Amino acid sequence: RAKEQGRDRYRFYSSSMASKASLLLKLEGLLRQALNKNELSLHYQPQADVKTNVLTGIEALLRWSHPELGQVSPVKLIPLAEETDLIVPLSEWVLQTACKQNRLWQEAGLQLVPVAVNFSLRQFHQPNFVKMVMRTLEETRLEPQWLEIEITEAAIAHNLDYALQTLQSLRQIGIRFALDDFGTGQTSLSYLQKFSFHTLKIDRSLIQILKDNPHDSAMVRAIVASGRSFNLRVVAEGVENLQQLEILQRLQCEEVQGYWFSRPLKPEDATQFLVRSRVEA
Ligand code: C2E
Ligand code: MG
Ligand code: MG
Ligand code: MG
Repeated sequence: RAKEQGRDRYRFYSSSMASKASLLLKLEGLLRQALNKNELSLHYQPQADVKTNVLTGIEALLRWSHPELGQVSPVKLIPLAEETDLIVPLSEWVLQTACKQNRLWQEAGLQLVPVAVNFSLRQFHQPNFVKMVMRTLEETRLEPQWLEIEITEAAIAHNLDYALQTLQSLRQIGIRFALDDFGTGQTSLSYLQKFSFHTLKIDRSLIQILKDNPHDSAMVRAIVASGRSFNLRVVAEGVENLQQLEILQRLQCEEVQGYWFSRPLKPEDATQFLVRSRVEA
């Protein structure tokens, strides 16, 4: 019986592994098509000054809309692409598209804002990352100061020397860096000391637990204070309601991003948003 069970188990594993491999292959094909067939797009989420409501930046967020699969979250899409070589053209496509879009807004005379682009640990550690970024800026003719690259602490911790070099080369030409999802994982103040970030983004999970008591707001208070000490721009992510906004104001956090101010917008709608923000300014 044990033998039979063992055999069954073996069969079970091998068939599920085979189906995982074939699923991956299928998804790789779909993703390849997506890159060629305009199924990918970027949505843009505004960031704003808490006091004045003035637009201070805009984050590009990847969207994949497949005819049958529907909307595939970037949280699934990026790791999938990372299992294949498609991560390279995907990184380039995202950066190209975001820089081109920002350049178009600038040429239309709209408010100048930095566009923030996310790079995963593996994307950041791709060989030629620096070259790819520089080439894309040249091709799209976007000045470096209007690009902000978002990475996480994990991407830095993975290889400190590489991260230092990479940040230095790109900071030198004027590109901004944001430390994304700060306050989760192995949050380390020493990174703020060692690396010249421009922006610190407080993770949504810390904003969602914000209540009017000192304990729940302690992390956010500490991060805002750290940001100030290191002369960083601090952006609270995932601000959904007025209560959170008011607490953040009291904690002297100066900038927010979240559904309260705006959802991520399709390019056309983001353009309209920029047009309106010019009228109101
Ligand atoms: P992130 O960089 O921290 O982006 C913020 C996420 O929070 C976005 O989810 C955004 O839609 C969502 N969000 C914004 N405001 C609110 C709010 O008020 N409430 C709630 N509940 N959510 C809010 P999204 O677009 O699903 O992206 C998830 C993550 O996927 C991103 O987190 C980022 O890590 C990654 N991602 C997105 N686009 C790209 C990309 O082009 N490249 C890479 N490497 N990663 C990307
Ligand atoms: Mg981000
Ligand atoms: Mg984030
Ligand atoms: Mg995140």
